[in-house]
Amino acid sequence: MPTTILIAEDETAIADAVLYALRSEGMEARHCLLGREALAVVRGGGIDVVVLDVGLPDLNGFEVCRQIRAFSEVPVIFLTARNEEVDRVLGLELGADDYVAKPFSPRELVARVRARLRRSAAPDDFVERGDFGIDRAGHRIRWRGKPLELTRYEYAVLDALLQRPGAIFSRAQLMDRGWDSHAESADRTIDTHVKTLRAKLRAAGADPERIRTHRGLGYSLEP
Ligand code: CA
Repeated sequence: MPTTILIAEDETAIADAVLYALRSEGMEARHCLLGREALAVVRGGGIDVVVLDVGLPDLNGFEVCRQIRAFSEVPVIFLTARNEEVDRVLGLELGADDYVAKPFSPRELVARVRARLRRSAAPDDFVERGDFGIDRAGHRIRWRGKPLELTRYEYAVLDALLQRPGAIFSRAQLMDRGWDSHAESADRTIDTHVKTLRAKLRAAGADPERIRTHRGLGYSLEP
């Protein structure tokens, strides 16, 4: 899959320069003029880095970032005018990953984007799967930014299902992921953990039926 960068910027001259620089480096780049549009695009998925102008006409960039962080861990780089530099700390507190002050060279911005992408590719970092954020190093999974308090086995099951959304995993395959040795009854064990997992998804506000039962086959996570 190509790397896709979203730039939310209402000044089309700036946006065009950035789009050109990103595309000439082989990246896919999408553009939107409004904060609400940016939120819709990020929600749609497939965005690797968001470049976000602080001074957007509808929602300011800080508000857009705050709303993105409610459901996504996608890296965010703010673009800010000089007189907005005072807000730097606020932006970082809101979960921005980097900051570029205008005027900037498109080349510099591309370098910052690349730096973010390298970090995202690091094995310890967050993996995003739709509404879910997986922190492999910490064995934690979040749903729309909310941490799910999972046991070791629930984590193993959900992490396995999230590897390939839509694919059906047999109970034995799921056992292979999280258990050192097979218990006497793989079926019962997995079913029990799926049941508690669904309850935790429901408690977090997610649809518990995202984990679908396939009679005689196993379980899948609906994409
Ligand atoms: Ca602007």
